[in-house]
Amino acid sequence: RATRGGEEVRGYVPSMGQIFMRRFQMVTQFRQSLEDGQVSVHYQPKVSLPNRHVQGVEALVRWQHPEFGKLDPDEFVPAVEAAGLIGVLTSFVLEQALRRVRKWLDEGLRISAAVNLSVRNLADAEFPAKVSAALGRFDVPPELLTFELTESGVMSDPQRALPILRELHALGIVLAVDDFGTGYSSLAYLRQLPVDQVKIDKSFVLGMGTDLGDLAVVRSIVELGHSLGLTVVAEGVEEDIARDQLEAMGCDVAQGYLISRPLSEERLEAWLQARTAR
Ligand code: C2E
Ligand code: CA
Ligand code: CA
Ligand code: CA
Repeated sequence: RATRGGEEVRGYVPSMGQIFMRRFQMVTQFRQSLEDGQVSVHYQPKVSLPNRHVQGVEALVRWQHPEFGKLDPDEFVPAVEAAGLIGVLTSFVLEQALRRVRKWLDEGLRISAAVNLSVRNLADAEFPAKVSAALGRFDVPPELLTFELTESGVMSDPQRALPILRELHALGIVLAVDDFGTGYSSLAYLRQLPVDQVKIDKSFVLGMGTDLGDLAVVRSIVELGHSLGLTVVAEGVEEDIARDQLEAMGCDVAQGYLISRPLSEERLEAWLQARTAR
């Protein structure tokens, strides 16, 4: 961590006060940084197995901070959440993603976009109406939008989250459980959630080549997911062998550095062109 962010020097460990100040700055500057164009959305392609068609992209937020350098979402999303600004962040990412999908539709391409939600988005009773309005504004069919939620997120306040999830699902939006396998009550509650997809956590996918335990977890999530009628997505696919194993197990979709790293808009367009030209 100490080497991240342009200003910091290797081996330099910030004090608690400095960490606090940095978080405070991030939070107070966040809205302005959106307007200033410091925050952008990168996209990581996902391909269907076994045909390897580009099925969708996951939108991943980035912040090029003038003082702290390039910030990863793990460094600022929690601070933005805690400050009550997640609605602002999610709307920004959603708009960017829907604009992309619209552009592709205009070019005759059907590629879906997945947006990560925070549990706090599900505490906003107006959220489904806002999403519905955004879909209408860009004239994007709801099935080309996926929301990814972590199981811990949903289960921290199911009473509140469930009605919102049901509304989103009723709109026709695809719902995915992210980081699947890392929580506690995975199997029992999955049936009760209005979800269409499970994303196997990358820790298992990264480990499956060397760890039989991880391989067994991946295999059982694929089986469980399919027996519940869900689409199964594997993230963290870095090696050919992992993709081949996933394909053999019948996993539906693969995402990871093997296929592509998350890319800026421009680089994604070039990547898509190179791919469809083949
Ligand atoms: P996530 O949703 O689990 O996203 C997947 C993360 O794994 C991304 O990190 C991605 O760059 C990384 N990744 C993709 N393929 C591979 C691979 O093959 N190997 C390895 N080792 N890693 C891979 P990133 O972009 O740093 O995002 C981290 C987390 O930040 C995300 O985890 C998500 O929870 C959160 N996040 C990102 N964008 C947003 C956003 O717009 N809103 C919210 N609420 N959270 C976001
Ligand atoms: Ca995700
Ligand atoms: Ca994940
Ligand atoms: Ca994660």
